[in-house]
Amino acid sequence: MIWYPYQQMKTMKEPYKITNAEGVYLYTEDRKMIDSVSSWWSVIHGYKHPVLTEAMKSQADRFSHVMLGGLTHEPVQKLADKLAKWLPGDLDYCFFSDSGSVAVEVALKMALQYYVNKKDFKRTKVLSLTHAYHGDTFKAMEVGDDEDYHFILEAYGEKKDVIHIPTQIQALEEVFAARHEEFNCFIVEPLLQGAGGMRMYDISFLKRARQLCDQFGVLLVFDEVATGFGRTGNRFVADLVQPDILVLGKALTGGYIGHAVTVANHKVYNGFYGDEPWKALMHGPTFMGNALACAVALKSIELFEEEDYISKIRRIEEITRREMQGFKHPKIREVRMMGGCVCVEVKDAKDLSGFQQFAFERGVFSRPFLNYMYAMVPYVITEEELVKVLQVMKEWFSIR
Ligand SMILES: *Cc1c(COP(=O)(O)O)cnc(C)c1O
Repeated sequence: MIWYPYQQMKTMKEPYKITNAEGVYLYTEDRKMIDSVSSWWSVIHGYKHPVLTEAMKSQADRFSHVMLGGLTHEPVQKLADKLAKWLPGDLDYCFFSDSGSVAVEVALKMALQYYVNKKDFKRTKVLSLTHAYHGDTFKAMEVGDDEDYHFILEAYGEKKDVIHIPTQIQALEEVFAARHEEFNCFIVEPLLQGAGGMRMYDISFLKRARQLCDQFGVLLVFDEVATGFGRTGNRFVADLVQPDILVLGKALTGGYIGHAVTVANHKVYNGFYGDEPWKALMHGPTFMGNALACAVALKSIELFEEEDYISKIRRIEEITRREMQGFKHPKIREVRMMGGCVCVEVKDAKDLSGFQQFAFERGVFSRPFLNYMYAMVPYVITEEELVKVLQVMKEWFSIR
């Protein structure tokens, strides 16, 4: 049987069984619903996009996968070239992997080994944010700051190698002044912390982080697995403040197939480059650079550019602000909006219990978690469909 994610299997409610999907719609046997979650924020072009489906089909007719150890191919070369050109500055060196969590592991390994390669063995710690989420594998969980790690803390005691700070400039300056020599990197979800509760913060924090990282020789890592490809209203937050290492996933393939990339700048790449074999980056996921994933990712980026997704996202934000501005209720703590993300945080998580079924009955798929009801819609959504999603969110409170 299937062991479902994040669920107590004993009390889990039966999941909706999907039989087809097209555009922003998911179809069950007898209903259709707008996917307001974009399948964990990845399906930015909607489902069954003809251009993306064709890209995968025609690649499958040639070959679906060959390993990247000792072999290479056109789709991975084209995607790496495209990313190098498309991403800001000298973020040019692409290490592919099969999921966001693994790409984060690779970034953290890169940052540590960068210093070990320089024979600097003191920089063993990672600076990270409170409420951070960076994936579910062990090191990614450790730099994260949520429930996932609590059982590990119970088993092992305190975290030894990660320091968490809030998104406040004062806290940032203090921790750098006190401990900068211990850090190999500072990893953040820039501007928007997703799974930690759709928390939004100001770019001034990242600008100050960039200065301090430069001043004290700490690598700055942006985990844009969730924020990349327009979710914050910026193409990448890395366009505003440039990190040393950038991690992309989720929307990279338009949600068609799992793939991710860790992109390093010239300085980081150079820390591994040389005649010494031991300086090489010792990592290599079996399915890295998968040809189907690369072919579809390349087309996804082309669509994003050709069809001016940034203005689509701006429009989503305008409509969302229009519909949600001033929306209040005694049970709501805060309504937050940024780009293609809106979150209604309630004071008591119990007040969201039953919302998923309520939304389903009104033709919207939603997946609230803890105190957070949110929408991160596919960018191809129409105004009418988006208004419907937002109205269902508001209606839930009007009957309470
Ligand atoms: C989802 C997510 C990850 C993990 O990606 P997976 O593909 O689920 O492993 C890492 N970082 C952030 C910010 C994410 O939102």
